[in-house]
Amino acid sequence: MIEVRGAGGAPGIVTGPIVLYRPASTTGTTSFVDRRDRAVAYFTALGERLRARDLADEAAIFDAQALLVADPALAAAVTSRASGASVPEAICAAIDELAAPLEALPDPYLRGRASDIRAVGAALLGEERSPDLPPGAILVARDLTPAETVNLPLSSVAGLVTVLGSATGHTAILARALGIPAVVGLGEEALTAPDGTPAILDGQAGLLILDPDRATTARYVELRAAQQAATARRTALIGLPAETSDGRRIALWANVGSLSEVKAAISAGAEGIGLLRTEFLFLQRSTPPAEDEQFAAYVSVLRMMAERPVVVRTLDVGGDKPLAYLPPASEPNPFLGERGIRFSQRFPDLFRTQLRALLRAAVYGDLRIMLPMIATAADLDWARGELAAVVDDLRASGTDFRGEAPFGIMIETPAAAVMADRLAARAAFFSVGSNDLAQYALAADRTVAQLAGRYSGDDPAVYRLIAMTVAGSRGAGISVGVCGELAGDPHAAMALVGLGVAELSMAPGSIGAVKEQLRASTFADAEQAGRRACSS
Ligand code: PEP
Ligand code: MG
Repeated sequence: MIEVRGAGGAPGIVTGPIVLYRPASTTGTTSFVDRRDRAVAYFTALGERLRARDLADEAAIFDAQALLVADPALAAAVTSRASGASVPEAICAAIDELAAPLEALPDPYLRGRASDIRAVGAALLGEERSPDLPPGAILVARDLTPAETVNLPLSSVAGLVTVLGSATGHTAILARALGIPAVVGLGEEALTAPDGTPAILDGQAGLLILDPDRATTARYVELRAAQQAATARRTALIGLPAETSDGRRIALWANVGSLSEVKAAISAGAEGIGLLRTEFLFLQRSTPPAEDEQFAAYVSVLRMMAERPVVVRTLDVGGDKPLAYLPPASEPNPFLGERGIRFSQRFPDLFRTQLRALLRAAVYGDLRIMLPMIATAADLDWARGELAAVVDDLRASGTDFRGEAPFGIMIETPAAAVMADRLAARAAFFSVGSNDLAQYALAADRTVAQLAGRYSGDDPAVYRLIAMTVAGSRGAGISVGVCGELAGDPHAAMALVGLGVAELSMAPGSIGAVKEQLRASTFADAEQAGRRACSS
């Protein structure tokens, strides 16, 4: 039995024989132009297929690849190598030249761009094939292009495994959208087992077990049955209120970072969006989105949520999420540098454009604006000053807008939690970003693997800061929510409710488990959990 660990790509447990995916060979004399035209048509057709399944966000992956394959820079790179080389050789060399420099960069988004270029190469070379799979197979590949993922025979493929790729890569996104359990970023050992080797794939845990022994197989069969039963129980709760057994209502909202996640939030029964991460509009492109593009995106979320609250966080880049087109100044400690609201202070025009788009969109629903990484009252006052200027501009231009959209802040720094009483007088609401609050409280960078044992939101120091935040909010009577990962953990959620948190916002997939836990508990249970969390 061999356990190979990777990252969770798409949840679900499956057992089955593995089949190695081998790309087709790359010969042929078709001209570059013919190959290119065929690839454009191919990507366009794949995009249309996804749109027909209501997967517009995922379809955009193929729109981008269609543009990339038609890019004159690619044609020029291939043509410059045409003499003395076959067409496939010239394509391989050109793709290497374009992708390799991006693959060497630390920025995951630029590396994602490199995998798009490689995917375009695979389509040009005609390397893609639809593998012949026995029913119930687990497909193991070094890499799968988005096109190959979409072309998998869904009736036979039980799960998929790739050596390359990350949880945020296109293959994982598509596997989640198509409901195929997946593990990505595995060690090379995954490629060493022959076809037919029995295996277990746990997409949640990011684990592939080759040649499992009997006891392990039995354990996973049980685990799968338990997961299926839990899903059925939680599905039955979707239309029911989120409340303790003695009737204390808690708002369960969803965190989303794309339009397709808004759909997932609605299906999961979210009563609102507690955190719309607007970074999706700004990353993976070469210039910032214009006001109208942002306006249209915010309005579509509001329309989808039909009057339910949508808390939109202003741009939160910097730290581990740099913008390629506005790189940060060189910083020895990016998480202590110009991130969140500080980035907006450095680029105030970007912030004003976003505020304009938000205030215009606020006419179409219950939009609330939330500021990330506030450390001092001066940060909030600066943002309020910008808001006032934007309101004046919009009024002067006669544009339709709603200037009084609630303006709240994230509590992500210990300073903000400690000063919550002062901040409460100036903010419409608080939402605790427990992911950052934990890393700053415990002085442990959330992205450093060696510190994983020191970094946890489920820590008494973090709960005490949250309790201080709730106490600080009381004088002004504003509500406190939590939108970090802590809110989506059923036991932590109980403690948060006991500490007086009114809204819990989490990944859509966590809503069912948290609701189930709350409905099975009294408010006194929650209060006890809150006290224990602060003292343990
Ligand atoms: C947080 O810090 O808890 C949070 C929700 O923001 P992000 O994870 O996007 O930094
Ligand atoms: Mg944060």
